Amino acid sequence: MPGPPAGLCNICAFQRVVGNTRGSVFSMCERAKLTGETEYAKYPRLPVWECPGYEPAEVTPER
Ligand code: SF4
Repeated sequence: MPGPPAGLCNICAFQRVVGNTRGSVFSMCERAKLTGETEYAKYPRLPVWECPGYEPAEVTPER
């Protein structure tokens, strides 16, 4: 599912893109949930251009 224009979050390992029944998509940050670092908001103000919690997502090669 293509994500919204979320800046750095779109290439971050902690992003999860979620959709609703009306077809809207949202960028969710799971860093707080996965690490316990509660300073990371579940729904940060987008786009995010700087984030100390950013970790590059693994890239899956296209076939
Ligand atoms: S850790 Fe930072 S860059 Fe990564 S998804 Fe969360 S807010 Fe976005």
